[in-house]
Amino acid sequence: MQHDDTAPIVTALMLAGAVPDDPWTVEVRPRRRRIGLSVKRDSTLVIAVPPTADPRRVAAFVAARRDWILRARREMARTAETGPVRKRLVNAENFPLFGRPHRLRLVNTGPEIRTVRTVHGTTELHLHTDHAHDARTIIDWYCRAGLDWLQDRVRQDHHRKAGVADLRFTVREVRRSGSATLRRWGFYTPRQHEVTLAWPLFQLDEDLVEYVLLHELAHAARPGGKPHGHQWQQLMRSYMPNWKTVQETLKRHEPRVWLGDLDSVTS
Ligand SMILES: [Zn+2]
Repeated sequence: MQHDDTAPIVTALMLAGAVPDDPWTVEVRPRRRRIGLSVKRDSTLVIAVPPTADPRRVAAFVAARRDWILRARREMARTAETGPVRKRLVNAENFPLFGRPHRLRLVNTGPEIRTVRTVHGTTELHLHTDHAHDARTIIDWYCRAGLDWLQDRVRQDHHRKAGVADLRFTVREVRRSGSATLRRWGFYTPRQHEVTLAWPLFQLDEDLVEYVLLHELAHAARPGGKPHGHQWQQLMRSYMPNWKTVQETLKRHEPRVWLGDLDSVTS
């Protein structure tokens, strides 16, 4: 059911036949200044409007984006169908780190896990067969690599560090057990003054990881205002002028990131 103040907009959308298909919903957002469209996982189109939006303008806006809506719904349906990314612990399976391929190789000697540069210049991830029955060792490897990178990155970055002294960092699992999706890439906990990043993030290109780090650093700097409000955005712009583009790229990558799910190997 629609809230009262959306009724004129809903009517205008229906009269104009602006939305290609069900389901859809209109939400009035007090802080919004422009009309925004997004498609949820269940393919519901969310039409977010500012409180003062003119119903006919909203209808025209939505009608003009028919192709975008259809495409976004198709994409969402496809990811919902394929489910989470699954990997197998077999030779040559790829476990990328910062976007660079790391081909798995099961070995019987050496430590439980390590990276090895081959003579051809590629990198192998050597996993001891004793640890090849679950993903835990590989996930721990991502956590350690992520934490190393974070500490290095923050040490180098003097001017940003100045604003967020004594910050603590953790890299770990952040999805609920059994959940098929990642809840978030990272978050900042004010009480512990701590930034937590999700380990699957470190599979992605460095600029995407960098964006998530800066996003949380901007929270840690406590700029005042709303969590993603004007002041926070101003900080983000100073950290990473193209952060909005990078954020969009990150969203597109999300369905393709491995969250630790394994396919059992049968022969
Ligand atoms: Zn945030």
